[in-house]
Amino acid sequence: MFKILRNIKNIFVHIRSSLKFIFLVIVAGILITSILSYFYKLTYSVTLDGEFIGYTNNKAQMQEKINEFMEQNDSQNIAFIEIDSLPKYSLCLVKKENQTNDEEIFAKVTGLGTAYYEYYAISEGTEKKYYVATKDQAEEIITELTNKKSSNINKISYEKVFGTDLQEFSPTEAVITNLYEKPIKTYSGSGSYTIASSTTKIDLGITLIKPVSSGYTITSRYGSRSGGTHTGLDIAAPTGTTITAAADGTVTYVNYSNVSYGNCIKISHGNGIETLYAHCSELYVSVGETVTQGQAIATVGSTGNSTGSHLHLEIRVNGTTLNPQNYLY
Ligand SMILES: [Zn+2]
Repeated sequence: MFKILRNIKNIFVHIRSSLKFIFLVIVAGILITSILSYFYKLTYSVTLDGEFIGYTNNKAQMQEKINEFMEQNDSQNIAFIEIDSLPKYSLCLVKKENQTNDEEIFAKVTGLGTAYYEYYAISEGTEKKYYVATKDQAEEIITELTNKKSSNINKISYEKVFGTDLQEFSPTEAVITNLYEKPIKTYSGSGSYTIASSTTKIDLGITLIKPVSSGYTITSRYGSRSGGTHTGLDIAAPTGTTITAAADGTVTYVNYSNVSYGNCIKISHGNGIETLYAHCSELYVSVGETVTQGQAIATVGSTGNSTGSHLHLEIRVNGTTLNPQNYLY
């Protein structure tokens, strides 16, 4: 019985000395911590490419600030900024008098950044010719050239460009003006044809009368001229001057256009004989309508590929253009 009690007493003594020890350890701990925290503080040491660049208390804030910098895209077509290397952070104890220098760290990290720009290149064929800042501008240029039926429209394209160089931007209007090419004079929609020499005279079997009978000037004759063969006769007259049918016939083609022949009429006179009236301002007839010789069918204008008010008159037999001056004027 006594033996047991003595053992219990021993255990208490043991516990008491253990508690005393734990207490001492805690007190010593608090003391050391107090002394340390009096002279030292816990902070992040920051290195860039292994080189120490400073201290920061707030690693998360610093990282966020750097990320924001890299993703900035609000000025001068900057898409993003690439930084050569990201800083490394390690927790450490430093003497209290050591200052943190967030500003300096940020400046050093971002100072070595490379800006990547985003803009649009306008190409003709494979050659990048102009640069614009926005996609809207690029599309406006393409739309405008398409509307104007620029003859090079199939070669014009745009693409988004990423690069470290920011090109000088061209004004939209200037790009349109510089790229625009007058539409090629192509015969639109009323059949293929061949060209007879200016002296070829086929007996038509009908008599034609002048579609513009007064107040006109012949400005370009049938046959070869600079830039190709002229397939008709140009009869200049003031805009609005009446054009009459050269002979009885049926209207086979009426086209309103801003390119090539412009507003244009074709009349079939039978036996493969046709007359064509181009660059008109107003058209008075429609397809299928029969017309009589001398009937007003249109007025003189300068629509399509034309530089002044005139009637471009063609005479064709079975798809071959003939020199109108072998029959008229
Ligand atoms: Zn002409």
